Amino acid sequence: MESQQVIGARGVEYAYSQQPVLAGVDFSAYKGQVFGLLGANGAGKTTLVRLLCGQLRPLKGEVRVLGLDPAQQGERLRQLIGVMPEQAGHYKRLSLVDNLLFFGRIFQVPKPKERALELLELVGLGAKAQRPVATLSKGMRQRLALARALLASPQLLFLDEPTAGLDPHAARQVRQLVADFCRQGGSVFLTTHYLEEAEELCARVAILEGGRIVCEGAPRALCQEYLPPSVQIWRGGELVEAAPGLEQLFCHFTKRPLGQE
Ligand code: ATP
Repeated sequence: MESQQVIGARGVEYAYSQQPVLAGVDFSAYKGQVFGLLGANGAGKTTLVRLLCGQLRPLKGEVRVLGLDPAQQGERLRQLIGVMPEQAGHYKRLSLVDNLLFFGRIFQVPKPKERALELLELVGLGAKAQRPVATLSKGMRQRLALARALLASPQLLFLDEPTAGLDPHAARQVRQLVADFCRQGGSVFLTTHYLEEAEELCARVAILEGGRIVCEGAPRALCQEYLPPSVQIWRGGELVEAAPGLEQLFCHFTKRPLGQE
């Protein structure tokens, strides 16, 4: 049995200055799972995230997030969700802890200082808590953005390319945090270009192409449905047979040659 739906989109359309980006998007995401949205550069993933968080209004269609309409009930919704945008802005002259305290007060987080320090430890930035954000590397700023998204103990996290620019160790830590968050009952909507990351984390994925969701479901079931049972790939100079994965599925739907994502 499918668990409770946390996001539902039906026939969602959006355009920037009459340039269509989304042309009838339909999908569902469920509680306690990571839902992965895949798509080439410019496919409209960030636009969809902004619609789901109530930062943009759809031109047509219906969106429900945690049972709320983001366009009409954005304020209530923002108390229940955490958002890690593609490019998070921080107050660069303020310390890490003061950045989190600032947002903690806005979100009325109980015991904001304790929560801020706890989250900085969680994302591996505890030792830098008192440093100005200006002294952080790009990857460290990403991790601070994740801590900010977790501040108000959200039910649902929106993560827009959360591991972009992170070193392999930091990326693994972030994926671990995401998996732990779901194990504790949280739900995640994730966009990523790292297909192995989607394969590892996502109970369900969808591919956005040409303004529509062209496939949606559990990664393995989708591969079985749309791809031949095995593919030939070169590994260590040898041609081997392998079960197809998300990379092949992505290439199948976006018509991009393998290795270009
Ligand atoms: P990426 O993988 O590169 O982050 P994306 O799938 O997140 O891409 P979006 O950022 O949603 O794609 O952009 C979708 C399309 O909308 C692109 O053609 C982009 O140029 C256009 N676009 C995005 N934001 C705006 C804006 N504020 N004004 C006009 N056009 C925009």
